[in-house]
Amino acid sequence: MNKPSELKLDTVPCWIGGKPVAPAGRMGEVYNPATGQVTKRVPYCDATAVDSAVKAASAAYPGWRDASILRRARVMQKYLQLLQAHQKDIARLITAEHGKTLPDAMGSVQRGIEVVEFACGIPQLLKGEYSENVGTAVDTHSVRQPVGVCAGITPFNFPAMVPMWMYPVAIACGNTFILKPSEKVPSASILMAELFKQAGLPDGVFNVVHGDKATVDALLAHPGIAAVSFVGSTPIAKSIYETCARNGKRVQALGGAKNHAVVLPDADLEFAADALIGAAYGSAGERCMAISAVVAVGAAADPLVKLLEKKARAIKVGPGDQDGVEMGPLVTGQHRDKVAGYIDKGKTEGAKAVLDGGKPPLQEGFFLGTTLFDHVKPEMSVYRDEIFGPVLVVLRVQTLEEAIALVNKNPYANGTAIFTESGGAARRFENEVQVGMVGINVPIPVPVAFYSFGGWKNSLFGDLHMHGVEGVKFYTRTKVITTRWPHQDTPAPGLNMPTLG
Ligand code: NAD
Repeated sequence: MNKPSELKLDTVPCWIGGKPVAPAGRMGEVYNPATGQVTKRVPYCDATAVDSAVKAASAAYPGWRDASILRRARVMQKYLQLLQAHQKDIARLITAEHGKTLPDAMGSVQRGIEVVEFACGIPQLLKGEYSENVGTAVDTHSVRQPVGVCAGITPFNFPAMVPMWMYPVAIACGNTFILKPSEKVPSASILMAELFKQAGLPDGVFNVVHGDKATVDALLAHPGIAAVSFVGSTPIAKSIYETCARNGKRVQALGGAKNHAVVLPDADLEFAADALIGAAYGSAGERCMAISAVVAVGAAADPLVKLLEKKARAIKVGPGDQDGVEMGPLVTGQHRDKVAGYIDKGKTEGAKAVLDGGKPPLQEGFFLGTTLFDHVKPEMSVYRDEIFGPVLVVLRVQTLEEAIALVNKNPYANGTAIFTESGGAARRFENEVQVGMVGINVPIPVPVAFYSFGGWKNSLFGDLHMHGVEGVKFYTRTKVITTRWPHQDTPAPGLNMPTLG
């Protein structure tokens, strides 16, 4: 029996077969992190609801696979225009459910839209190869074909951008798609699905199911799903990778991060500090490419920490939809408490709290202030663990070699950056660092849509990164065709493998 207050709440529907549906069964709650209030309810799909999405996607697959590449590209072009026109509507939904500031949400939607822009070039991207006379009067060509029904499972921190790393490329390649967004931020996906329908996408090509582990388990177990893209925390990414491998599914599973920025004494420290403040505290640190560890080399440390403290103290914290606010709340009360727990642990483990944001500055909502730890050691939990909050730690080393060794020892390897004026030091860092995405005087080196996004080590399980050319490879299979026609004055093949071309 629902409580009267629950009955007044809107339900975020799923999107199956080109229309909104609200399956019966378990329901979850969606919060506005700035007020701490429940604002919506969301259905948690069971295996039956997942099966109906797979059926819709399977039924739509043959027609979409065989639609001309130009038709698929034109749907993407129309979708691009609609997304641009509705960018702010999507961003508002993100701010209301995730908490990040509206300008930051706008930027994240923009980065997602750029993947749609990339996918508009699919006729060029799907071109195969052709070789004449690989043997006498024998030709060979290759084509890239879609894999079938694909699924995407995405985290709470980028409700639009991370799904758009996946489904535009998958769908442009001729696949059909089922998205399972984070249950904490379900609304943006439904608006993106409605706009895709308006763009002319046939029903069933793009579907959205909501839910938690049980929904994901149903997707991973379903024999109708050929490929799974996942982005989330490392333990779940690893288990998704293992389960998909066991179930014979193609998989790319991106995990968590601990991104280091190395600052050399010759760096422009004011410039570096400004960059690091944005990278550490933007989106309240809830970014997979956030800088969470600064490695200060030699004489850089003291002046850098002073600058970071001054700038971090000045950050305006508040509701993400208010003008002038630079940092919003954490996504849930539970996550805020987890981050606050790390701040306490950092202090008891002996790190120096230059700035302690553990006490919430506002009464309502899931807020924390900015925290800066200095003299952090590699064995401390504030360094070892991904905190995913507005907590920046500074480690001090004496040389570039020590800094590179520290970064390379960390099990995460998503992004990293170096701040220096020395081309030689930057080149050495770029060459030796064991991390998937590297910035040189760029704190968050997220590749643009026509390059591919992905980390190394515990930040990615699988072989192919997302979007760009690697995304096209993930969502297609190569077929190689060898052709010979009779009556070309060449002998017919015999029983032995030919030795002459
Ligand atoms: P999460 O791992 O808790 O959840 C990710 C997705 O998996 C969600 O859709 C969730 O419903 C589902 N899920 C949760 N528990 C599950 C379980 N036991 N079994 C199967 N599915 C489960 O991650 P999150 O808290 O939503 O997002 C934050 C994490 O995502 C951070 O670790 C962050 O670094 C990571 N992230 C990584 C990247 C990247 O590109 N590498 C990008 C964004 C976020």
